[in-house]
Amino acid sequence: MAYLENKQKTCAICQQEYHYQELRDHTSFGLRDLDTRPPGMMRNMIHLMVQKCPYCGYANDDISKNMDHIEKTQLQNPVYQMTLQDESINFAIKKCILAGMLCEKKNAKKAGMMYLKAAWLADDAKKLDVAKKMRSKAIRYLENALTENENEVIRLIIVDLYRRIGMFDEAREYAMYLLDNFGMEKYKVNILNYQIALCNQEDTLDHTIPGNYQES
Ligand SMILES: [Zn+2]
Repeated sequence: MAYLENKQKTCAICQQEYHYQELRDHTSFGLRDLDTRPPGMMRNMIHLMVQKCPYCGYANDDISKNMDHIEKTQLQNPVYQMTLQDESINFAIKKCILAGMLCEKKNAKKAGMMYLKAAWLADDAKKLDVAKKMRSKAIRYLENALTENENEVIRLIIVDLYRRIGMFDEAREYAMYLLDNFGMEKYKVNILNYQIALCNQEDTLDHTIPGNYQES
């Protein structure tokens, strides 16, 4: 069960206070998607995982913190400002894009995961072009993140990202490379074999992870 809570928070960048909705005591039952999108109630709460300050435009998973040392000048960047003021972008998607932009250079993994969240929200909003663009960005930053730290779950997400944007050859080759070169646990091997089967069917849809998924 998830409970929503209204919380008064101080922005870590401009120090202004505002109220934000947050999730409390949430647990999700069921299987995650192949790209780790959570099941159950959490599936519909993705938009609450990112907060945006209405005063300065800072966006992060927790507006009161600045773990990635985002600088005030980044918020003034013309591309950031243009995105911030673009009213054609749905608010929830925009929050994730902004948060992604801010940590592209400081935390590539977080940037990639923010763009992945943007893609999920774009899927829900049936904005397929946006979803595709966000998945391409997610691939780019998650691949950057792998040059800094090895992470098998990120590699599995990248396979799914390629498949979801219809790059079946890339997804299949990457899955095969992982099967041949990484001594992955059985459930990860199952996921990769499943991905290869989905690629062979040219399936770009979301699917849940087969069998038991283990958080890591
Ligand atoms: Zn602020």
